[in-house]
Amino acid sequence: MANIETLIHSLQAEGIENTAVLEAMRAVPRERFMDPKYAYENAAFAIESGQTISQPYIVALMTSLLLDVSIPVKKVLEVGTGSGYQAAILAQLVPQVYSIERIELLYNQARIRLLGEMNYQNIELLYGDGYEGWPEHAPYDGIIVTAAAEEIPQTLLKQLRPSGRLIIPIGRAGNTQTLKIVTNGHTEDVSFVAFVPLRTGIN
Ligand code: SAH
Repeated sequence: MANIETLIHSLQAEGIENTAVLEAMRAVPRERFMDPKYAYENAAFAIESGQTISQPYIVALMTSLLLDVSIPVKKVLEVGTGSGYQAAILAQLVPQVYSIERIELLYNQARIRLLGEMNYQNIELLYGDGYEGWPEHAPYDGIIVTAAAEEIPQTLLKQLRPSGRLIIPIGRAGNTQTLKIVTNGHTEDVSFVAFVPLRTGIN
């Protein structure tokens, strides 16, 4: 039976070494974000509105990459709140987390879950189009996009502090995409991933 310890073990086996990230994964009950039966499988799962909660390994990887920078990471932006799980992991590690979701149902569910039931004081959620970013709170020390874009959104880059990282899957939906890190205008490929598409507008 998969449990949190077997999950942590497989994350370590896959190369996640950041102990603070592993502690955050241990601290956040994934069963509150999805079907509890499968919550400690290292896999992505369907949530409402045809969307997915990311695979724990990918959450841990993207979080580790976001934090692995020379500047203090105090304020981050996530595009694609979905279930709210990635936002909760970030909130364990970073003083202030902003997250945007374009599907109203998911936004409302995440609001109830994260801000109501779980009472996170350091997460702010926005119902809107993440392509626009959230300029009011910019610049961010890091930006994480949890849906696949065909190109790097320049609007998001403009909201990033120098030396901060943008972590984003780039490529067509339906295929695998390439997870990329953009720092100071320089882009680096990390690995192949599979995300739902980043879409424009709200729903
Ligand atoms: N981080 C999420 C993963 C959600 S899947 C989690 O931990 O559960 C990707 C999410 O991105 C979906 O909920 C989808 O609706 C949302 N999304 C897609 N395009 C978007 C956009 N332009 N702005 C904001 N959210 C978007």
